[in-house]
Amino acid sequence: MRRIFSFHGGVNPPANKQQSLRKPIADAGIPPELILPLAQPAGAPAIPVVTVGERVLKGQVIAAAHDVDSLPVHASSSGTIHAIDERLVAHPSGHPTSCIVIATDGRDEWVSHSGASDYRALAPADVIQLIRNAGVAGLGGAGFPSAAKLSAAPHTPISTLIINGAECEPYITADDVLMRERAADIIKGIDILRHILAPRTTLVGVEDNKPQAIAALQAAAQDTGTEIVAIPTKYPSGGETQLIEILTGKQVPSGELPFQIGVICQNAGSVAAIFDAVVRGRPLLSRVITVTGASVREPQNFQVMLGTPMRYLLEKAGYEAGRNSRIIMGGSMMGFTVPDSGVPVVKTTNCVLAPTAAELPVPPPAQACIRCGLCAEACPATLLPQQLFWFAQGGEFDKLEAHHLFDCIECGACSYVCPSKIPLVQYYRAAKADILQRHRDREQARLARLRFETRQQRVERAGTEKEARRVARKQAAQQHIQATRSESQEDPIQAAIARANAKKAAQRARAAHGSELERLEKDVVATHTRLATATAKLDEALAQGSELAVALREGVDRTRAKLAAAERTLRDYQRSRQPGFASPGADMTETVLAKAIAARAAEAALSPADKIRKDLAKLQQRLNKSEELLACSRRNGDEEKVIVALEATVARLTEKLSAAQQLLNSAQDS
Ligand code: SF4
Ligand code: SF4
Repeated sequence: MRRIFSFHGGVNPPANKQQSLRKPIADAGIPPELILPLAQPAGAPAIPVVTVGERVLKGQVIAAAHDVDSLPVHASSSGTIHAIDERLVAHPSGHPTSCIVIATDGRDEWVSHSGASDYRALAPADVIQLIRNAGVAGLGGAGFPSAAKLSAAPHTPISTLIINGAECEPYITADDVLMRERAADIIKGIDILRHILAPRTTLVGVEDNKPQAIAALQAAAQDTGTEIVAIPTKYPSGGETQLIEILTGKQVPSGELPFQIGVICQNAGSVAAIFDAVVRGRPLLSRVITVTGASVREPQNFQVMLGTPMRYLLEKAGYEAGRNSRIIMGGSMMGFTVPDSGVPVVKTTNCVLAPTAAELPVPPPAQACIRCGLCAEACPATLLPQQLFWFAQGGEFDKLEAHHLFDCIECGACSYVCPSKIPLVQYYRAAKADILQRHRDREQARLARLRFETRQQRVERAGTEKEARRVARKQAAQQHIQATRSESQEDPIQAAIARANAKKAAQRARAAHGSELERLEKDVVATHTRLATATAKLDEALAQGSELAVALREGVDRTRAKLAAAERTLRDYQRSRQPGFASPGADMTETVLAKAIAARAAEAALSPADKIRKDLAKLQQRLNKSEELLACSRRNGDEEKVIVALEATVARLTEKLSAAQQLLNSAQDS
């Protein structure tokens, strides 16, 4: 016998379940219009993949999942896409949201689909993907995507799998009838989950006010390893954390999720949907919904296509609008009033409650809190509801969070027991919405600040880089200017002067070389002449028998030695200037003499006019160079003294040229 634990608080409101349990599940049929919100109960909104006017088949994906933690939207029946626009939906905010509207064709024509009856041959991740693709969500609570919940298993070992069949909320019997009528499918669905999670223990918790469901499940679960556990009827035993505590004695720590203590909990309806998805290949297109309340003549459970307007469903149950005060989605404890009877049913719609005013009267005006503490006694989450109320009234959001507001499961037990009839849950819902909005605002502000700082850094970096580029350009320009100036100073003027100097140096070198050669040659010629003269005088003295002959002979010998020395010096010089120079040897004097004689002869052969022309050509050459230097110097804006000096040179050469020209003219005339 399994030990059953209890949880703190809880209440026992009137169950009001029998009204809807008199009939089996009925098929609600195909409404003329299906309204399918893109925003799912949890996860990011789906993305439409159809266009208005397009024909769709039952089970066809009409909006793709945004990411792995969100769900796709399927067509609940065949028809034509009538609109993709904003419609009112069942949400406490009453705000419209984007929906795909299908005008059904009554044929209920399926898209091609197939299941995986041999799912044990598949890897758990592949089975989870089938569940994800089928859009299965938690059908008993917040509508959290089942695949996302199951995906925690590979990272955390799951010791206990719990199937939630408690269905503690008054009026609602959807899970009860489902467990009665589809117990075998639920047990097969549990086997799929056991294949995915490999838990040591599998428990199905059902409140003991559902004996038929318990019996049906026990019969189906024979020899499967799944244990059906009847638990005491107490609201809210169907809360996930409360059911875990009842069955295992474990408490889920504040701020943590059940899988973190090795437990995964799935609703009984979700398990049946998982079976349909995996074995039959059918997406989650419909669910069992309790339609009840004193305003409907035949309260019962219906198998209802998702997207069916509540008005259509209520009419199926014999809705008497005149008796009705409001339409509630959910039960009397956790349900909320919908803004319009035309809003569609969604995956989390477990009940459409149409009470009369006498049945569920509008709460009287709230009185002041008398600090009775009954709310704290009733709270299954062991919170301090009255303190949360004060903080919520004062907008003290930090204190609300510090007092674990988000552990509140919004069960309404505190409001139910409050003698002052304070709508405590509404304060908590509003405070949660404000806090979440504040977190979103903070996150947006943080992202905006991050974007701003990133942009500032980028702008500053760009500015720094731009300044660095500007400085580099400036330096380059300055260097270029300096280089240009330097070039202009050195090249046209300095370089020209340098060139001129180099040329002069070369000319001097050539002149020096020429004069040296000439001097040496002259020296040879002159020594040779002196030797000839001395020899002639010696011959004359010998012929006359003069006593000067001895001295003259010594003079001839010395002169001959000098001639030899001059020839040797000339030869060495020529060899030093011309490495490949071939020594003329004994013919040197004759060669030099011949060269000198030839040069003199060529000079002597020129006419006076030719000599002047030769001078004129040289002068003209020098004048051209000087004028070129002067123009360049003026172009570069050189110093005045440089320009003046060049102008003087040009003027002097022009004058000389003019004089030479006149001389030439005179010579030609003569
Ligand atoms: S039950 Fe109501 S009156 Fe009593 S302490 Fe709580 S909020 Fe105040
Ligand atoms: S609604 Fe929240 S605070 Fe009130 S009893 Fe339930 S869990 Fe506690």
